[in-house]
Amino acid sequence: MTLDSPISHIPLIGPLWVRKLTAFNIKTVKDLLYYIPFRYDDFSTISKIANIQEGETVTIQGTVIEIKNVFTKNGFNLQQAKIEDDTGIIEAVWFNQSFLTRAIHASDQISLSGKIKRMGKKLQISGPKYEIISRASQQRFQEDLLKKASVHTARLVPVYSETVGITSKWLRSRINWVLEEIKSGKLEIADPLSSDIKRFNQLIDLHKAIIDIHFPNSPIDAKIAKRRLAFDELLFAQIESKIRRMENKKQTVGHKFDVVSQLSKLDQFVKSLSFTLTQAQTNVIDEIYRDLEKETPMNRLVQGDVGSGKTVVAAVAMLVAHLNGYESALMAPTEILALQHFETLKKIYAKSNISVGIATGSTKNYENFDILVGTHALLTDVVKFKKLGLVVIDEQHRFGVEQRAILTNKGHNPHVLTMTATPIPRTVALTLYGDLDMSLVNEMPKNRLPIKTWVVPENKRDDAYEWIKKQKAQAFIICPFIEESETLLTVKSAKAEFERLSTEIFPKLKLGLLHGKMKPKEKDTVLDKFKKQELGILVATPVVEVGIDIPTATVMLIEAADRFGLAQLHQLRGRVGRGDQQSFCLLFCDQETGTARLKFLETVNNGLELAEIDLKYRGPGQRLGTAQHGKWDLKIADFSDLSLIDQTRKLAEIVVNNPDSFPTLFNLPKISKINTVLN
Ligand code: ADP
Ligand code: MG
Repeated sequence: MTLDSPISHIPLIGPLWVRKLTAFNIKTVKDLLYYIPFRYDDFSTISKIANIQEGETVTIQGTVIEIKNVFTKNGFNLQQAKIEDDTGIIEAVWFNQSFLTRAIHASDQISLSGKIKRMGKKLQISGPKYEIISRASQQRFQEDLLKKASVHTARLVPVYSETVGITSKWLRSRINWVLEEIKSGKLEIADPLSSDIKRFNQLIDLHKAIIDIHFPNSPIDAKIAKRRLAFDELLFAQIESKIRRMENKKQTVGHKFDVVSQLSKLDQFVKSLSFTLTQAQTNVIDEIYRDLEKETPMNRLVQGDVGSGKTVVAAVAMLVAHLNGYESALMAPTEILALQHFETLKKIYAKSNISVGIATGSTKNYENFDILVGTHALLTDVVKFKKLGLVVIDEQHRFGVEQRAILTNKGHNPHVLTMTATPIPRTVALTLYGDLDMSLVNEMPKNRLPIKTWVVPENKRDDAYEWIKKQKAQAFIICPFIEESETLLTVKSAKAEFERLSTEIFPKLKLGLLHGKMKPKEKDTVLDKFKKQELGILVATPVVEVGIDIPTATVMLIEAADRFGLAQLHQLRGRVGRGDQQSFCLLFCDQETGTARLKFLETVNNGLELAEIDLKYRGPGQRLGTAQHGKWDLKIADFSDLSLIDQTRKLAEIVVNNPDSFPTLFNLPKISKINTVLN
């Protein structure tokens, strides 16, 4: 077995488990080992039965005297066992786990970890985690056997995030099996870091880190192990992005654009717009001009809050391509957004003699255009370009690296401009986007009033609804996220909320419902009605299309706001305040405890600042979650660990800039991605 072996090589992982784990993105032995626990249960205190105290969490070890199912009068099903050690007897009680009477037998040697509770005069261990040490049929209880068996009890026990059908206990037992292979030398872990690097950065061996992250002997050991794994993760992420940058710089564009001689036409275009560009827009456009004149393809990410006006920046860039005789493609993550861009571009190019086409799942009119707007449909083989010079990708985090590559490969090293409204904290940018040049549209168009935001206590809910009625304004009402991604459950709750609001709260208003499981046509119809002000309220799930532009909507009400990151809430509220009227955002909380964090939204009106606060407010080990931040989360390291990011960045720079020193920096000659480039 190697780290790259499929998980099916691990005993007890049959096709069913393979399927379950694959859905979890665990495909190889390595994936399983890097599925690290998010916390540990401390069951390390082993107590004699005579010494236990009410309220403590302990492990007791002894012989099962009896175990039985008990049905209580009110219909509950309990499992009761009596356990004896050389100091006394204690009762263990479980609730509704009748399989236990088949798993645990009288005379078994058992280890139990759990909380001690008082029942009447007696103490009992309640709902303990258990582990059979030896079966009655096998040899007698032995101390050393005990130590070996401690996987689920009697130690710091790893707890993994679970999903349907995969329990922490199961993961623990399979991971433990692999770790035993490692300990016995049957499975080798090659350490990519040389001993010099490890010494210099005070890192432990990878071998030890992988064992300790799962089964540490102390919390400190777990921390040290995590630091080593986080170091690797940050280092390789940065080496990869730096290498991508180097590769990009080695390429030459199919055709060098001439900007200078087109400047008067470009200025003319800018003057023809119905508004004056903000200074931030002008600056970013200048940066793009400079990129477009180079021999190497542009690879720039434009970051700017919702409504900061990124589209027009892209429009200017695409005009440069057009004036140089090249086509452009603009890809957006959803059909609604693509259509919106299509309409916008047609309008602003009306005088410029540029033809704009559209390619989505439902519209297939994509031949002979100067600029082709579309969704993923742009990636299909039927969409071809003659001279693709510029690729623009909106909401870039919604697309994978491969998808971007498919589109750029339709031209010869075209320039690439990506845009995002997701604020990317500095440390994240440094770590994951080292390959991109960054631009910031950090200024809103002048006519924008900041959105007045209030965190509303539950007892003011009715007042809030009354207030919305009085405003006579168009409102978005965002339903809670039930799960990470939009599932049927979320949709169901949105439908229920829609019913409740339509009948009980706003019977006199016209309401619409928008969720991710609707067909594009249905979505369009609803949005269209909302745009035409035929609907007063749009009830939507949080996936409500990033960037839809409805200037007449002025109220945004968000349910269970504490389940979102601040930056994400900021993005959501950015869907109002797009016209020149005062807009409002009302935030409801699921749990009182979330209020303090949400209050930041009342005063801070800058996505990037809020993203930084998000990072600070995260508890240790807490993930950003896909619901909050799209695809750029790290598995092990924390973006808030500035010193580790700094250390690894320096090392990554050395590695990438001194390919010759590479073999001495790393023991392992075949980290494939790095090697192919450095050779
Ligand atoms: P986003 O950055 O979220 O993609 P858009 O490009 O959709 O923002 O712009 C939002 C709205 O602001 C559009 O209606 C656009 O026409 C308008 N807009 C863009 N730039 C300016 C500006 N400088 N002054 C006034 N309005 C602008
Ligand atoms: Mg946009």
